[in-house]
Amino acid sequence: MPQLEKRSWAEPFKIKMVELLKMTTRQQRAKAIKDAGYNTFLLKSEDVYIDLLTDSGTSAMSDRQWAGMMRGDEAYAGSANFYTLEKAVKKYYGYKHLIPTHQGRGAENILSQVMIKKGDIIPGNMYFTTTRLHQELAGGTFVDVIIDEAHDPQSLHPFKGNVDLNKLERVIKKYGAKRIPYICVAVTVNLAGGQPVSMKNLKEVRALTGKHGIKVMLDMTRIAENAYFIQQHEKPYAKRTIASIVKEICSYTDGATFSGKKDALVNIGGFLALNDDDAYAEASNLVVVYEGLHTYGGLAGRDMEAMAIGIEESVQDEHMKARIGQVMYLGGQMQHAGIPIVQPIGGHGIFIDAKQFLPHLKQDQFPAQVLAAEIYEDAGIRTMERGIVSAGRNAKTGDHYYPKLELVRLTIPRRVYTQAHMDVIAESVQSVYQRRNAIKGLSMIYEPQYLRFFQARFKKLS
Ligand SMILES: *Cc1c(COP(=O)(O)O)cnc(C)c1O
Repeated sequence: MPQLEKRSWAEPFKIKMVELLKMTTRQQRAKAIKDAGYNTFLLKSEDVYIDLLTDSGTSAMSDRQWAGMMRGDEAYAGSANFYTLEKAVKKYYGYKHLIPTHQGRGAENILSQVMIKKGDIIPGNMYFTTTRLHQELAGGTFVDVIIDEAHDPQSLHPFKGNVDLNKLERVIKKYGAKRIPYICVAVTVNLAGGQPVSMKNLKEVRALTGKHGIKVMLDMTRIAENAYFIQQHEKPYAKRTIASIVKEICSYTDGATFSGKKDALVNIGGFLALNDDDAYAEASNLVVVYEGLHTYGGLAGRDMEAMAIGIEESVQDEHMKARIGQVMYLGGQMQHAGIPIVQPIGGHGIFIDAKQFLPHLKQDQFPAQVLAAEIYEDAGIRTMERGIVSAGRNAKTGDHYYPKLELVRLTIPRRVYTQAHMDVIAESVQSVYQRRNAIKGLSMIYEPQYLRFFQARFKKLS
C-alpha cells in the first residue's frame, strides 16, 4: 500500500444551520462602495458576500451556547448567569473579581477612569484604537514600548508582540514610576497583525514592573490565540494545553479588560477583571454609572451564559488548531500568489502590506483605504483599513499620525466560513494585484472627530 503524503485537518464541528447570502454584480458593488464614501464600514452588510471586516462579534455560536441563551436568568440583580460567568473567569483565567461590561471598551473606560490620573503615562505594546482613546480621555498619555520588529512587516520574529524591556525601562526612568499606574499588555497585538507575546517576555515584564510597583493590565481579547503561538513556538510549552498556558499568562498580571466578541465566541459581551480589592470596589461602583449594575454590566443574563460557555470552548486545543489553521491556509494561498502580507501570519487574520501593494501612492492618499475598496468591488469581500486613517490625528499638532504599518486587514470570523471561501478570497486579491498599477488614491471629504476610520468619507483622486 502506498503511504499518503499528507493528512488534511478539518474543523472539529459540523454545520447545523446556514445563512443564505445575496450575490451581487460588479456594477452593483461599484455603486455601493461609492455611495459608502469608499469606507467599508459604511457598506450595508447585505451587499457583502464574504465579510472579513472584523472577527469581533461575528463568530458562529455553538449549539451549546444557543442552549445556554435559553437559560438566561433575566433578573436585574444577582442573575444566576453572572455566577456561571464568574466561575468560568476564575477557572480559566484565575482572576479574583469580575465586572461584566457590554463589550471590551466598556471595561477600558472603567479601568482608565479608576486607574489613570491627569498627566499619567501608560506604556503599551502598540496602541489599540479604543484602548488609547479611553486612556487619553482619562488624562493619560500612551507610550509605545513594543519591539521594533513589530513595525516591520517583513520581520520573521516569532513573537512580534513582545514588549521591548529597554524601551520600557527608559520610559520608567524618564517619567518616574509614580506617573505610571500600569502597563497595558495586549495578547495578541491586533494592530501589529495579530502578533503574539512570548511567555518569557511576560515574565520579564512582570519582574521589571514589579521592581517599580507598576501594575500589569492585560488586554486579553485574543488570549487563547496567543496561547496557541506559545504552544507552537516556545519550547517549554510544546506539550502544555492551551487552557493551562492561558491561565499562566493571566498569572503574571493584576487584571484585564476583555472583549468577549473575539476569543469567547459570542456576538456581544466583555468584562473587567481585577485582583485588587480596592480597585474592584471603585470599579464596581463606577460601572453602575456607565454600564449597569455590577452583576450584569450592560449584558442580558443570556449573554453572560453564552460567554461563559464560549470561554470554555475557546481554550480547547482542537478548536484553536482549526481556527488558526484556517487563517494559515488563507495566508499560504496569498503568499503563493506573491501578495505582500505581514509575516509571520498572525492569529486572527491576514494583513496585506498596502505600501508594498501600491507603492505609487503616498500615505496621505490612503493606500490601505483604497485597496479595501478595490477588494470589495472585485468580489464583494469586505476588509478594513488599518493604517493612516485608523491611526487618527495627533491631538497637539493636528497632523495625521503616520504609522509605519499601512495595512488592509482580512479578519477571519470564527467557525463561519469554509475552505472554499478562503480560495475565493485569495483569488480575488490576486486579481486586484494584477491591476494594481491602475489604482488611484483617495482624498478625505468628511472626517469625524473621534475614531475617524468608522465614519470618514472619501472620494477618488482623478
Ligand atoms: C476589539 C478590541 C478591543 C475592544 O473591544 P470591543 O469589544 O470592540 O469594545 C480592545 N482591544 C483589542 C486588542 C481589541 O481587538
